[in-house]
Amino acid sequence: MLNFYPGPSKIYPEVRTFMTDAFDEGILDAPHRGEQFVQMTRTVVGLLKRRLNIPQDYYIFFTSSATECWEVIIQSLTTRKSSHIYNGAFGEKWFEYAKKLRPNAEGVKFDLNEPMPVEALNISSDTELICFTQNETSNGTRVSATSILNLHNRYRDTLIAVDATSSMAGINLKMIKADIWFGSVQKNFGLPPGLGVLVCSPRAIFRAKQIAEKAHYNSLVSMYEKMLNHQTTHTPNTLNIYLLKRVLEERPFIKTLEQHLTDRALDLYTFFEQFSDFKLLVENEEVRSKTVIAVQGSERLIDEAKKKALHHGIRLGNGYGAWARNTFRIANFPAILDEEYEELKRFFLHYFA
Ligand SMILES: *Cc1c(COP(=O)(O)O)cnc(C)c1O
Repeated sequence: MLNFYPGPSKIYPEVRTFMTDAFDEGILDAPHRGEQFVQMTRTVVGLLKRRLNIPQDYYIFFTSSATECWEVIIQSLTTRKSSHIYNGAFGEKWFEYAKKLRPNAEGVKFDLNEPMPVEALNISSDTELICFTQNETSNGTRVSATSILNLHNRYRDTLIAVDATSSMAGINLKMIKADIWFGSVQKNFGLPPGLGVLVCSPRAIFRAKQIAEKAHYNSLVSMYEKMLNHQTTHTPNTLNIYLLKRVLEERPFIKTLEQHLTDRALDLYTFFEQFSDFKLLVENEEVRSKTVIAVQGSERLIDEAKKKALHHGIRLGNGYGAWARNTFRIANFPAILDEEYEELKRFFLHYFA
């Protein structure tokens, strides 16, 4: 089965051996306060920083998912309100979670084909945290490095949190330009689900300590205190942390990966432009995602394409949220091989050209 689903997505085939190795090395039932676990976590944190270009002084934490990160960030870094800038289902969900925790949370919605409207923002002066989604998996849009830089320059005194779940470990994110970044491993990392990676600037930790919220098992201050000793607040997903280590050890530097994904995305966009019955959901090239490609068509045709593909051993991603029925999505993640995209293209040329 060729898997182009944007999460859970294709797993690196090497993971099969790595799982056996984990068993044989005895890490899976090692105590999570013991030396073997601590060593492993220290190594993974170092690898993440080197391979993903994370600033040396930033902190790394493990959660169970990106969804958990949404919650931890709001609980531990706001007391009154956060402001959410979004154009799709994931950004909106984060905003919905925030409103349940802090009813004063504010949201600004922008159009799918527009860049994030940094100049036009009118964020309340008492906002404690600005939140946006760097790669909106539901509709295949992205926020460019320039927009992030402009946001950073305009709101220098406010913490900025970025959901990078479907771009982290695929795109070279300039982490220095925001305070909080997070993602989960079942997207660009090419691993099975069940582990989130949360990255925080020293300034974010300073703020968390000021607020000193400790009402939850994964309150940021508690996570920080445990991570000083390379430990977690609870018994974590040891297997996935181990797999993360093994996968990162063999990975090229993020700049190389990004270039490859950029070229491949461009190729896929050009490819799908040639069909008369399909249309790219995102018309503005500037805001098209490099890691998730959304293709639009009539509901009947989209349904037919997905079914026929499945029949030929190809799993396309369903549409999501407002675009559930009239789009399919294709992940452009590092674990998927160029040959697999060639097979995907042959399938579409054969049945839909
Ligand atoms: C997949 C995804 C999530 C949710 O990730 P989980 O690990 O399932 O919690 C959140 N945000 C974005 C942008 C995503 O792509």
